[in-house]
Parts: sequence; structure tokens; C-alpha cells
Amino acid sequence: MTEKLLGSIEAGGTKFVCGVGTDNLDIIEKVSFPTTTPEETMPLVFEFFKKYNLKAIGIGSFGPIDIQKESATYGHITSTPKIAWQNYDFVGAMKKKFDLPIAFTTDVNAAAYGEYVAGCGKDLSSCVYYTIGTGVGAGAIQDGRFIEGFSHPEMGHMIVRRHSDDQFKGCCPFHDDCLEGMAAGPAIEKRAGKKGQELSEEEPIWDIEAYYIAQAAYNTTLILSPDVIIFGGGVMKQRHMLAKVHQEFEKLINGYVKTPPLKEYIVIPELDDDPGTIGCLALAKKEIEFS
Ligand code: ADP
Ligand code: ZN
Repeated sequence: MTEKLLGSIEAGGTKFVCGVGTDNLDIIEKVSFPTTTPEETMPLVFEFFKKYNLKAIGIGSFGPIDIQKESATYGHITSTPKIAWQNYDFVGAMKKKFDLPIAFTTDVNAAAYGEYVAGCGKDLSSCVYYTIGTGVGAGAIQDGRFIEGFSHPEMGHMIVRRHSDDQFKGCCPFHDDCLEGMAAGPAIEKRAGKKGQELSEEEPIWDIEAYYIAQAAYNTTLILSPDVIIFGGGVMKQRHMLAKVHQEFEKLINGYVKTPPLKEYIVIPELDDDPGTIGCLALAKKEIEFS
């Protein structure tokens, strides 16, 4: 009999990345589908997994989501601004098609877990992972467990101090000028009139961007003092920004906390585009142990 495989679903706001892999977290196949409506997207997901003999599935989803196992709406996407997905019973729909152990967490928690088990956080006891993309989100792990209480953290919406050269109002639908409202990809696009990937490295906007990202690192350091802080997502493809983030962070922290060397402490993902997929595979594997 062939080895049973692990499934992963990285459900993002723009695309669903589905994958299958082995217990060693080697990815065998990875595909992506646009995130439109559950009626359109989910059949593609079901079809993809039907080809495989799976033993568990890990889901990292955009949110907010209900992660409380005892809750009546556990496994649902809850108050998302994406109307078609509001109150969608994600785990329930998967369970109907695949009667398997299913792990369910946020997309950023899954990516954090991937880096924790197989990337920058490997051999460390804690890590925090931020994605700076269409939105900003973060997940934190301590000794293999997600840091969470009544719900998952929402660090992407922390309040930030405005850069003195920045007059942008902010574009978070809930808070205007929170971290996401000031630093996510759409905030860059609204200020500059073009997408971040079309802007040159010399644009002053990157200094402003780095200032906000450094504040996320600063707040994270003071609140959690993790072993490593990882910044991923589309906007961090601007590799030159990391040095600016280090500089701004150093100014903000002003010697108050002695962190690990910044090149090891504030980093970009080691797993390139795969932290989410690898994290979901690892969570699927872990779910088997608990079911
Ligand atoms: P998502 O958050 O939707 O999963 P991404 O992490 O790719 O996807 O983030 C998309 C956002 O990142 C968009 O706003 C896009 O303009 C921005 N982005 C993508 N690539 C780059 C780049 N090379 N430089 C700056 N911004 C980028
Ligand atoms: Zn916000």
C-alpha cells in the first residue's frame, strides 16, 4: 500500500494554495485557485484532494475564524469583510468530504508554524511571524503552541506612531491608520498610485514602510521577546527594506533591550513561498497525534 499523505490548505484572501506532502514535510504537489466564493472555490479544493490517499489535512485560513473547539461555530470563518465567506463552515465542509483529522488555524499561524518547525525558528523555542501583504497578520508560537486566548492574536491591527513625512489617512476599514492600514500592500499602492512591485528601491516610501514594520518588531519585542521575528508576504519581497527595518528598530529600541544580533533576530522567511504550506502539513501531522 502506498504511503498515506498529508494535505494542506493555505486559504488566503486572494488565493487558495492546496498541497500534499509527506511526513518529512516534502511537498509533492502544490496548486492554487482564486478565492472567489465558497460555491466556486471549494469544489476545486475537493477535486484536488480526491486524487490522493490522505491521512490528515491542515488548514490555515484568512479570518477572523473560530478556533475554539468547544464553540458551536468552531471551524467557521466568522466576521470577514469577504461577504461570500462570512460564517462559512470551513471545517464542516471539509469533514463532509474527507472524514479525516483536520487542523484549523489562521493563515499566519500556519506560516509561523512552518518556519518554526522547518525554517528560521527551527531549534528555537519561540517565534513570531508577520505577513505584510494584502493585509497584515501575525502568529506567535511558544514551545510548539500558538499563543492565543479567547481567540487568535490580531497583531496586524496594532496602533502605530505616524511617520513625520506621512500624511496618508490609512486604509484599514476598521481603524484607518493601524499597522495594516498604514503598511499593507494596498496602503503603499494608495499613496504611490502604483503597486509596491512597480516602485523603485529609491522611493522614499520604503523608509516610511520600514518605520512601521520596525514598530511592529519593537512592540513584539517588548511584549513577547521571542527568539526570532520573521517578516514575510509580498511587500517583504523588497529585500532592501530589511536593512532599513533594522536601522529603524535600533533607533526605536534605543539600547533598552539587548536583543539577539539583528541579522538573526529580525529576518525574512527561510522557506520562501512555502511557510504556509509546510506549516499546514506539519499541523496536519500533529493533528493525527491528538485525534
Ligand atoms: P496575499 O496577502 O494576498 O496572500 P501577498 O503576500 O503576495 O498576497 O501580498 C500581496 C500584496 O503585496 C499586494 O498589495 C502587492 O502589491 C504587494 N506586493 C507583492 N509583491 C511585491 C513586491 N515585490 N514589492 C512590493 N510589494 C509587493
Ligand atoms: Zn486595523
